Amino acid sequence: MTNREKIGQRIFISGIVQGVGFRPFVYTQAVKNNLTGWVRNTSSGVQIEVTGLPHQVENFVEAFYKSPPPLARIDTIELLPCPPSDHENFEIIASQPAPGEFLPISPDMSICNDCLRELFDSNDRRYRYPFINCTNCGPRFTIIKDIPYDRPNTTMSTFAMCQTCQAEYNNPLDRRFHAQPIACPQCGPHIAFKVNHQIVASKEDALQQARKWITDGKIIAVKGLGGYHLVCDASNPDAVSELRRRKKRVGKPFALMSFDLDTISRHVNLNSEAVNLLTSPQHPIVLLERQPQSTVVQDVAPGQKTLGFMLPYTPLHYLLLEPQDGFPDALVMTSGNLSEEPIAYEDDDAQKRLSSLADGFLLHNRPIHTRVDDSVARVIQKKVYPIRRARGYAPDPVRLPTSVAQILAVGAELKNAFCLTRQNYGFVSHYIGDLENYETLTAFEKGIRHFETLFRITPKVIACDLHPDYLSTQYAIERSTQEALPLFRIQHHHAHLAACLADNGWNQDTNVIGLCFDGTGLGTDGNIWGGEVLVGNYSGFTRRFHLANVPMPGGSLCINKPSRMALAYLHTFGYEWNPDLAPVKHTSIEEQKAVHTQLHSGLNAPLTSSMGRLFDAVSSLLDICHTATYEGQAAIELENLADPLEKKGYPLEVEGNTINPFPLLQALITDWQRSVSAATISARFHNSLVQLCLTVCQIISSEMQCNTVVLSGGVWQNQFLLERTLKALQSEGFQVLIHKQVPPNDACISLGQAMIAAFNYQIS
Ligand code: ZN
Ligand code: ZN
Ligand code: FE
Repeated sequence: MTNREKIGQRIFISGIVQGVGFRPFVYTQAVKNNLTGWVRNTSSGVQIEVTGLPHQVENFVEAFYKSPPPLARIDTIELLPCPPSDHENFEIIASQPAPGEFLPISPDMSICNDCLRELFDSNDRRYRYPFINCTNCGPRFTIIKDIPYDRPNTTMSTFAMCQTCQAEYNNPLDRRFHAQPIACPQCGPHIAFKVNHQIVASKEDALQQARKWITDGKIIAVKGLGGYHLVCDASNPDAVSELRRRKKRVGKPFALMSFDLDTISRHVNLNSEAVNLLTSPQHPIVLLERQPQSTVVQDVAPGQKTLGFMLPYTPLHYLLLEPQDGFPDALVMTSGNLSEEPIAYEDDDAQKRLSSLADGFLLHNRPIHTRVDDSVARVIQKKVYPIRRARGYAPDPVRLPTSVAQILAVGAELKNAFCLTRQNYGFVSHYIGDLENYETLTAFEKGIRHFETLFRITPKVIACDLHPDYLSTQYAIERSTQEALPLFRIQHHHAHLAACLADNGWNQDTNVIGLCFDGTGLGTDGNIWGGEVLVGNYSGFTRRFHLANVPMPGGSLCINKPSRMALAYLHTFGYEWNPDLAPVKHTSIEEQKAVHTQLHSGLNAPLTSSMGRLFDAVSSLLDICHTATYEGQAAIELENLADPLEKKGYPLEVEGNTINPFPLLQALITDWQRSVSAATISARFHNSLVQLCLTVCQIISSEMQCNTVVLSGGVWQNQFLLERTLKALQSEGFQVLIHKQVPPNDACISLGQAMIAAFNYQIS
């Protein structure tokens, strides 16, 4: 073999390629193929130069496509021929940083199978060590303070590696080569159990104490990956109701964790897609249908037919849930906060805020830099359908269909997530929460600054909602004034439409039909929208159809009072408030009077075309929910009752551009008065909306060549409605786009805002 037969090849790879074992992978592949040369990290990816025989170089390149490391996400591979070099071997050489360059950062990943095996292997030096991790798993986003992703830039910087860890860290063939959070019992963080601000046990004793307290029915705060959880035995009714009382959380479901799939399958129905999602590196909470024999107490998810389960995702969680006689097989794992506040993550703050909520604290001394909640997802048509995008998914960027300016989009008010863009990347933040209190607002502001630092983004444009009262809007106005940046104020449902397009990589300028159904969003006419059939794309939209306006007596008060919306609907369509009707029966005479006055005077009774409010009204009319204790409760309980076998529906009228629900309500009330079951009526109500979606899409497609439909807005979290609408539209030949990376609720708004601003900024 002579050097003349050999060829040289330069390769540049971008994407999530650092901190995920990429260079060791390159090294192994190069050695396997007898190649010489080098690999190094740069500020924007990984650069490789190899020399070898043509077929060996070819095999080497093929491996990036065929078998990349599990956590890597390759965005681009650039190949460039170069002269063969006279390197004698293959080596990993020093990184080459460049200012201003940036790289996506890996989200936090659940413990891998190799680490899990070591965790329970009594011969391993990390046996039962709660912080075991490697390049394929462990904390990333929650511990990183700045880039490059190196140990000094993480919250592990205060732990000096022992010699053995250092040797693993330096060895390119070791699973822990350059694993920044590498640790062992000799040199890494430890756990402790605290009661009344006193450490009462540490290490294995701390774990066993916490487990005993949980078995005894107590409530424990556990410091995890992105924050604190409140934990108790899910089959203990007293513990669960005590947790509700302390947390001041009346009806909202709690998430659950079990040790393995077998255990989970005793509580909920599992299919192969659900199993794949539960065991994916992200380990989200998956909403699954409850089995009748489950021992999880009803109070964990009152009025729901689903339970939200996740598998342990850190070594600490595996140790905490280890099966043992008498130890509960399902634990409530709810975010450690008072209702409505963000999850606690800083130790002093957590112990102050949670001291009245938890009997004891299972703590550790690895700091959390960014708080991140658990993600929540469903399986829809065999694919992941996100409900809350946080741990495991953020800050993985959405690949945008086109390169855009550096934009900050601040999102909406509830379920806030912001978005920063750069080139083809949309860095949608983790779930921030409802921007209604100081703590969440602080998390929002800190989060934006953190993302700007991590991804080296200096916004040139700011985008926000039309609603002037949103704290996110106020932040956007202030910043755009201070920094003299153009501000784009974007209609809420247009943002939903654009978000769903971007989520699906839509890169055409043709119009699509947007079925944007949610609770609230300010419209361009000053009314509250939410039952919107739009036609448009990133650059603009028209409002082709909308649900008829009804007044909301008492304004936002209605959101917690579905009965008020029912009264408003009855009044609008000329129905007597007959005391036999459920919402009338459940409203005091005084409140009826107040509502009546508001409806007649129009004072404090803004008009809404909201689909969410129609669900509220129907839920109250069917005597299901008159007062909501959490967002969407009335609609969720209505959906849960719906009889899947019922095929009939009610009529809905489309007149001009208005969808008139009067015939529907009339038929629905008649059914109710004839004592048709709520399960049947609920199904018929849902079926009518499915038919409505099909009708409006058919009208529009006959008017203009428009065959693509996007479904966005919080109403599309309704699985009954979503699955039937998808089927109905698809069987009539429509291409239907639903969300797949960001949720259909308002957490997607910032992505849509960014895309709309990008398109209009280019034009202006
Ligand atoms: Zn691992
Ligand atoms: Zn060590
Ligand atoms: Fe919305």
